[in-house]
Amino acid sequence: MFEPLTDGHGRRFEYLRLSLTDVCNFRCSYCLPDGYRKQAGLPANLTVREIGRLIAAFAKLGLWKVRLTGGEPSLRPELLDIARTVAATPGIRKLAMTTNGYRLASRAADYAAAGISALNVSIDSLDPARFAAITGHARLGEVLDGIAAARLAGITSIKLNSVLMRGVNDDELDAFIAFVQQHDLALRFIEVMRTNDNPAFFERHHLAGAEIAAKLATLGWQALPREAGAGPAVVYAQPGRAGQIGIIAPYAKDFCATCNRLRVSARGKLHLCLFGDHGIDLRPLLQDDGQHDALVARIAALTATKAPAHRLHEGNSGGTPHLASIGG
Ligand code: SAM
Ligand code: SF4
Repeated sequence: MFEPLTDGHGRRFEYLRLSLTDVCNFRCSYCLPDGYRKQAGLPANLTVREIGRLIAAFAKLGLWKVRLTGGEPSLRPELLDIARTVAATPGIRKLAMTTNGYRLASRAADYAAAGISALNVSIDSLDPARFAAITGHARLGEVLDGIAAARLAGITSIKLNSVLMRGVNDDELDAFIAFVQQHDLALRFIEVMRTNDNPAFFERHHLAGAEIAAKLATLGWQALPREAGAGPAVVYAQPGRAGQIGIIAPYAKDFCATCNRLRVSARGKLHLCLFGDHGIDLRPLLQDDGQHDALVARIAALTATKAPAHRLHEGNSGGTPHLASIGG
């Protein structure tokens, strides 16, 4: 029997973000403004069988929630096979996916049938022209249709992710509030994070989550208690009204103290922090079922060494060129 996954700072890890590909079809201005560029000589993405072994090892260590991400996970041809494999792994109780909403309208029912029970859909503007300017794709209508289809397909946990940027979309706070209340949705505002590729964009457009929190407070929104296994957002609601708004503020004091997540890249590297230096290759231990115990022990030993906090405040984004490379 193995101990649950913990580190040297008293944090317990129950949640894995698994990137399925670093390819993306969108060109979000804070992430991949020039679009995805293929790099020569990189190994292939993890296969479905390798992913099955990886998840079985994490589940053995008490991890119960997996989020599929990318790049754009819906571009991965084996997505449904991967989802079924992860969802069927003993110990995994929740399978979520973060997507830009590409083809969601036509595929939501397949996702639900494959075991995806929660979706985060990225929408940085409710204005069609601005959405197109931010992402490089005039697809807001399609993405909204996708959200409606996901609800119809029985995916009950649907959240919107919006990166709020000064001078880009910060004038849409009221529109976002009206939207979540009208549709009884949960939205997460994410502070734009500095990566190695976007320092100039970051300097120009970073908007602290605290400013949004202060505005919500003046409108009568109240912070809710943190739920078990919850992500990094502080979640607010307006008493008596539908909808929730969360704020993910990685620059806030003590943001890392409640970290409960680990990340594995599409090629099988364990990232102990989104802004760590290097991933650690788990792939050699994913090649046959006989390595299960060694894999479990390696994950536990590496997790124990996780650093207490990122160093974004010092302008240090670790080895992360953009979040599409690890999955955000
Ligand atoms: N392509 C999918 C999507 O956009 O939802 C999944 C991957 S994307 C890297 C995951 C999340 O990270 C998205 O909500 C995106 O808006 C967010 N993100 C990407 N780059 C970011 C940055 N520099 N700062 C804050 N959030 C970022
Ligand atoms: Fe693609 Fe998501 Fe990055 Fe936008 S945020 S470029 S959709 S990976």
